[in-house]
Amino acid sequence: MTLLEFRDLHVTYTGSRGRLPAVRGVDLTVDAGETLGIAGESGCGKSTLAMAVLRLLPKSAEVSGRILLDGEDLLAMGWGRLRAVRWTGASIVFQGAMHSLNAVQRIGRQVAEPLLVHERTTPAKAARRAEELLERVGLPPSRARSYPHELSGGQRQRVMIAMALACDPGLIIADEATTALDVMVQAQVLQLISGLVAEKGVGLVMISHDLSVLSAVCDRAAVMYAGRIVEQGPAREVFANARHPYSAALGAAFPAIGDLAARKRPGGLAGDPPDPSRLPRGCAFAPRCAVAVERCVDESPELLPVPTGGSAADPVRTSACFVAQEGEPVVAQR
Ligand code: ADP
Ligand code: MG
Repeated sequence: MTLLEFRDLHVTYTGSRGRLPAVRGVDLTVDAGETLGIAGESGCGKSTLAMAVLRLLPKSAEVSGRILLDGEDLLAMGWGRLRAVRWTGASIVFQGAMHSLNAVQRIGRQVAEPLLVHERTTPAKAARRAEELLERVGLPPSRARSYPHELSGGQRQRVMIAMALACDPGLIIADEATTALDVMVQAQVLQLISGLVAEKGVGLVMISHDLSVLSAVCDRAAVMYAGRIVEQGPAREVFANARHPYSAALGAAFPAIGDLAARKRPGGLAGDPPDPSRLPRGCAFAPRCAVAVERCVDESPELLPVPTGGSAADPVRTSACFVAQEGEPVVAQR
């Protein structure tokens, strides 16, 4: 069953640099109980997409298209309904969210807060539930009496996850939620999140610049570049057998979780994503692409099913690359 659906979503910021098309026509679905990973370097529009779901974008952002949650149009929703949806329908754990905890309030109180506000429960019940939630994320319930500074970074991130889980949302969006943590803690927190998703049957959108992290945790992966989805498919396949040269380069830059040596010498990905206010005319990746052909400079490829081994296109693998669509290798042959 489809839980979340983006239909031709566009987000354009307007500012001193003029118009910035940060998200340019995204179509994407997430089923209930499914884990979707969204990968891409910094600046590719991942957080903009995430914030659009809960309408957390600044006023300067112009949004068009549709975002449906359980069939309900989030962009057309009134504020009252939206406030309810923000806790019980979908919740977001942001990058560095652990720094947004209130320094002078005990952890238990902060976890209980959404329950008091949104479920009109009694303070005693909310406090008990907060302790249960802390246990669920692997923290001793006694931590409810601690202040944020008494916790490690990994523990604070677990608290954020407990808060996101508080009102039993049907959808959780984790935007670089583990990026600030060290590799071992990152693996633990990711395991925790995917365990909770499996147990509860909620939908999870996990956003990371690191494709290897997503391939370990997610069912499906979508790779984003310059505001568009450029490849989509089973997460492990997208990582191990990329059908877009950008996914291949991203996978090569972060080959394996915990591979510290590789992190220090990211391979195969020189340069930066384009500035959204100055996008290339054809394929946005063409200037950095090792396999680009003439056509890539002039025309912008659509996201279409591509062959993955033989010559027939695989309906579950889509790529916005002319080379992949012809069934050709997307990595330069030596
Ligand atoms: P990612 O999460 O993939 O790093 P973002 O969604 O944060 O990407 O950013 C996409 C593009 O939008 C970037 O070029 C960024 O500079 C721009 N951008 C993000 N937020 C704003 C904002 N509030 N105002 C103007 N431009 C923004
Ligand atoms: Mg981001």
